[in-house]
Amino acid sequence: MNYLTRAGLGGMAALLLSGAVFAAPAAPPPGSITAAELQATVTFLADDLLEGRQIGRRGHAIAMRYVAAQFKAMGLEPAGTQGFYQPISFEERSFASDRETLTLTRGDKTSVFVNGVDLSVGPGNVVGPETISAPLVFVGFGLASKELGIDDYAGLDVRGKIVVALAGAPKSLNSEIAAHLARGKSGEAAALGAVGMITVRTIAQAERGPWSKTASTARLQRRNFVNPDGSAGGDAGSLKFSANVDDAAAAQLFAGSAMSFAAVQAAADTGAPHGFALTGTAKLDRSNAVTTITSANLLARLPGSDPALTDQLVLLSAHLDHLGMRTGEGDTIYNGALDNASGVATLLAVARSFAAEKKPPKRSLLFLVTTGEEGGLMGSSYFARYPTVGIERIVSEVNIDMPILTCDFADVIAYGANRSTMGPMVAAAAKKQGLGLMADPQPSEALFTRSDHYPLVRAGVPAVYLRTGWHDTQGGMTCRDAESLFRRTHYHEPSDDLSQPIDWNVAVKFARINAEISRTIANAHDAPRWYSGDYFGEVFAPAAVKAKRE
Ligand SMILES: [Zn+2]
Repeated sequence: MNYLTRAGLGGMAALLLSGAVFAAPAAPPPGSITAAELQATVTFLADDLLEGRQIGRRGHAIAMRYVAAQFKAMGLEPAGTQGFYQPISFEERSFASDRETLTLTRGDKTSVFVNGVDLSVGPGNVVGPETISAPLVFVGFGLASKELGIDDYAGLDVRGKIVVALAGAPKSLNSEIAAHLARGKSGEAAALGAVGMITVRTIAQAERGPWSKTASTARLQRRNFVNPDGSAGGDAGSLKFSANVDDAAAAQLFAGSAMSFAAVQAAADTGAPHGFALTGTAKLDRSNAVTTITSANLLARLPGSDPALTDQLVLLSAHLDHLGMRTGEGDTIYNGALDNASGVATLLAVARSFAAEKKPPKRSLLFLVTTGEEGGLMGSSYFARYPTVGIERIVSEVNIDMPILTCDFADVIAYGANRSTMGPMVAAAAKKQGLGLMADPQPSEALFTRSDHYPLVRAGVPAVYLRTGWHDTQGGMTCRDAESLFRRTHYHEPSDDLSQPIDWNVAVKFARINAEISRTIANAHDAPRWYSGDYFGEVFAPAAVKAKRE
């Protein structure tokens, strides 16, 4: 008290002396977005006390309370199943063993691969010791698509067997379609009766990153949401395991069979090799522990002002969870300042700015703050499967994940912009803010399939994933450098924290473009439409009215 009084008087004296008291800045008008609020939210969510916001843990629960409190303070309508919350149960699996092995037997020869060394396999959902043994069948890339006439399983019997599949997809496929099909591999194998899957690397995948990165995450916990009826959620529910092996182990899997692994890799580099039965049998030994945790998505709605359009929902999403903590020396907390405290701060600032306006946009705005994005897009998948609002009412989604706020960007990237009329809408909104729309600079990364909008795309909703672009305001490409520094150094590391040079005015700029996009869509005459002939629109929204590509 005493300290505060003296500080206050001191401050006042200084202001009087400088004359600045008469020039105090006016309060920002209602509806505006400020650097201070963005900084405040990111600073709170990325604090060490929140312990990396790991799903099912205290730090994430505190972060959820914070978001719900903000929604409440803004006067938004709850749109979850319990107020702002949509609670979800997750099964959390970990190992009860110290060592897990895959034993390959071929004739009288055996080879043993060790988890975390030349094998990478997660825990299963059987409590206690578990042994899975079956013959091996090579299934090429293991892809199937009626629409594209692909069936890598044609002529193969995989019932009761362990399939061996090449990672990824043939180079000839569009990278986003390829990533989408690749994500469905375990589900496809399970549907055909396989018991397990072993993925081997292509030359292209080996070039993308070292095996050690795959091996280092092998023994981490895995999570899967639980359906309301108690069954396991997710696509891979009925495969008993899904493993990866390094190239030397892969060579042994193919030894004595129709083609060597080297020949298969070479064939996969230029085409799509056909599958064949392998000569060996594999046996996986591990022991599992399973616990149940609960977490929640958060949902809030701002009703639209046009009675004819207020039933339609313009969705903005961002994930709140991050990786928690690790053991060991040094900084052990994954603060996730840019992944994705910055995205949640952006979403809250946009929500607040609309909530403060006298007349909201015509369509309603729906704000979704997801859980379980890290490690499987689980909260958004759950929402897409069990929407708290009619999914057909959601006309569009803009997802925000990991905006790079350390560089003054001159354009934005909207992954998926070329697939629906959201592209021109985003471009128009960006132009209003003096920003460009950059075409996807790294199509091979297939980012359109790698964040929380993707499950909604699979439910037929036109969507984009919005990020800051590579061009800077000085005419250079320093924002590309900022992005690549983040990827190489801070991404999914404890150093993604507040020691990064975050520019809060850049954060304001990014929030404003998001607000402008939401406004553009919410007030548009026609809701966004998939382009006719677009793969995702045709497959997931076959009955929807399509737009002709301009
Ligand atoms: Zn992440």
